[in-house]
Amino acid sequence: MEIVFLGTNGWYSTALGDTVSILVKTNDCNIVFDAGNGFNKLNEYADFSRPTYLFISHFHLDHISGLHALLKFNFRKGLSIISKSGGDKFLEKFINSPFTFPLRNLPYKTKLITLPKAIKDIPFKIDFLPLVHSGGTIGFRIEKENKAITYCPDTAFCKNAVKLSKKADILITECAFRSGENREKWFHLNPELAAAIAAKAGAKKLYLTHFDACRYKTFNDRLKAQKAARKIFPKTYASKDGMRVKI
Ligand SMILES: [Zn+2]
Ligand SMILES: [Zn+2]
Repeated sequence: MEIVFLGTNGWYSTALGDTVSILVKTNDCNIVFDAGNGFNKLNEYADFSRPTYLFISHFHLDHISGLHALLKFNFRKGLSIISKSGGDKFLEKFINSPFTFPLRNLPYKTKLITLPKAIKDIPFKIDFLPLVHSGGTIGFRIEKENKAITYCPDTAFCKNAVKLSKKADILITECAFRSGENREKWFHLNPELAAAIAAKAGAKKLYLTHFDACRYKTFNDRLKAQKAARKIFPKTYASKDGMRVKI
């Protein structure tokens, strides 16, 4: 499998990066976590002769704004969009006039499905748990080809993030805050807290993404976060748009 970071910013896109979207290329399908603006680059990396499963963690705009690009793609083997219970109703409204081209008129097969019901429609092992963030967010863990990948997007440090990350081969977390920063009721991670999740869970590698656009203006700022996290969890890597990771 291969992970491609399509967008690595939180909040809004900048010259450094687009908002968050991550592709996992597998031997028989495309798995995508979130559809921020980076989602518009999906066709550069994904194989559309395979089905695509798009997991939406929550509905803050930096995680769904890329759905505006759906008409650009040709998902020849279909697109399933998976969200939490009730999320299909919201997406039905959002991927529709007057916001964007209506989902039902797209020239390929689409399905809006929700967890936990969707588990039977997904051809690989998937776990999900609620995280701690405004708007209600879920984190995901997939197991495929003998590897486990966990994605914990917008969240504060919480036991569910640790649970989902248990011995994961790759843990991808957000890193909205700078080293040492914390703001009550903002429910995001700083590098140290992200590293603490990875260490507590016994994950093998940690990739930081969803760097807040306002706080992380250069890649060097991200490298400082990587350095701070490595004091707690040495195998930490700061992501950037276009980064590819073999797993
Ligand atoms: Zn976000
Ligand atoms: Zn959010």
